[in-house]
Formats: sequence, structure tokens, C-alpha cells
Amino acid sequence: MNSLPSIMFDDKFKTLLVELNTSMDIPPVWQGSPIESFIFSQNLGWPIQTSGKPELLISTCIEFRYALPIPRMFAYVIRRASGRVIGSEFSVGYTLAQGVRHLVMVGHNDCGMSRLDSLAPRVVESLIDQGWSRQAAQAYVEKHAKRHAISDELEALKQEYLRLRSIFPKLTIAPLFVCLYDGKLRLPAWYNTLEQETAITSVPDELIRELP
Ligand SMILES: [Zn+2]
Repeated sequence: MNSLPSIMFDDKFKTLLVELNTSMDIPPVWQGSPIESFIFSQNLGWPIQTSGKPELLISTCIEFRYALPIPRMFAYVIRRASGRVIGSEFSVGYTLAQGVRHLVMVGHNDCGMSRLDSLAPRVVESLIDQGWSRQAAQAYVEKHAKRHAISDELEALKQEYLRLRSIFPKLTIAPLFVCLYDGKLRLPAWYNTLEQETAITSVPDELIRELP
């Protein structure tokens, strides 16, 4: 049985997140953007006004304890285990072609992908139950567990943020962290310590060739 964990009592994150309750708390580059609308919808219950055009891309985990606070006609959504976009870069390209210029990444506490070492054998058994051979199931899970596993939810969000920023340098990306206990989005404290302006104008071919 999954229970809703409280991030407030989780020492791991206590000092690593910043509250987002007013416009003053929102980084200037996100103010007045669909990112701000998304944050206030989640944290304050403010309704999102839609323009009829896609305004935002949201990437988050498949986690069933987290529900997105968005109406129709507002955002594209990529939901994958751990919330990372790895392997779905083409989808990002597609949303760019539809006019999207803002990406929100939502990490969360108590992610199953941080416990994959202990969960992987159950995934193997579940696939065997589907008629897969043990050998094929083990090889498949081993290969994909490496790609999906994370050691720390907040650190994984940071690494994926930096990776996406280097691949899509003109996209405004907001790394956010949701607490499953109260459903509030918070800003990772490391965001304010990073160099915000990227002078990148072209992306190296090698980086693109290495994409899965
Ligand atoms: Zn998760």
C-alpha cells in the first residue's frame, strides 16, 4: 500500500527547496509566462486561462499520486518513469514546432525509480508472467533499469535540467519539485546558484548523435 509521504519531515529535502507562494518567489525569467500560470494553478488553485494554442510542455513521472492541475488546450505532457525526457527528445522537437517555448519539469519525492534496485526483480517477474522468457526479461530490465534508475530525486532533476538546457538552449526550462504530501510545487535551491544565461547558439552534432 502506497502512503502519501511528507516531504516536510524528510531531512533529505528540508533545506533544499524554496517555497513558491507569490509572484516574488517566481524567478523573473518565468514571471508572466505559462510556467507561472502552472505554478499558481498547482499551489494556489488559480484557474489557468487557455488561449487555444499549446503554451507549455510538461515532463513528469508516471507517478499515480501526482495529478496535473491543467485544463484542456493548454499543455503537452510527457509522463515517463522518473520524469526524465531521455528517449523522448523527438517529442520535445514536435512541441517546439507547435509553438511551445516553455518546459516545466516536475520531479517528486519518494520516486519508485530511486528504489529500482529492489523493485527490478518484481518487474522481471511481472514480464515473465506476461509470457516473456526469464532470460529475455532479465536482459531487458537490466538494460532499461540503468536508463530509468535515479539515486536521488532532486539531483536527477538537476542533471536532466542541465542536459535538456544543453540540447534545447532556447527553450525556457523550469525545474520544479512537487511534494506528494501537500501537492505543492517548490523550487530546488540549486536553481538560484546556477548560471542562468546560456550563451549557447548552436548544439554540437555529437551531442545529438548520442541521443537514445
Ligand atoms: Zn516517480
